[in-house]
Amino acid sequence: MTSRLAVPVPRTQNHVVEGKWRSHCLCCMRVWEDLYEARYCGDAVAWQLGGMPAQPPWVDPACPGCGSLGVKVLSVGLAVRHGATR
Ligand SMILES: [Zn+2]
Repeated sequence: MTSRLAVPVPRTQNHVVEGKWRSHCLCCMRVWEDLYEARYCGDAVAWQLGGMPAQPPWVDPACPGCGSLGVKVLSVGLAVRHGATR
């Protein structure tokens, strides 16, 4: 099905998407959550954590408890659009 959008979307419009990310350390089983902000500015995305510039949540995740890099990071606040549950 195709449809034409009558409303033009300005590509330069900035917007901010908040998302909660859950980290899970595979070493010490620690689980924690962080609320990230993704600031979309044109084609660029700037990530913020607690109001401070930050790396995207999936870049170099390290466990604050044991320092392990074996950390799984999942988005839990957004991108739950597929409805895939186990
Ligand atoms: Zn750990």
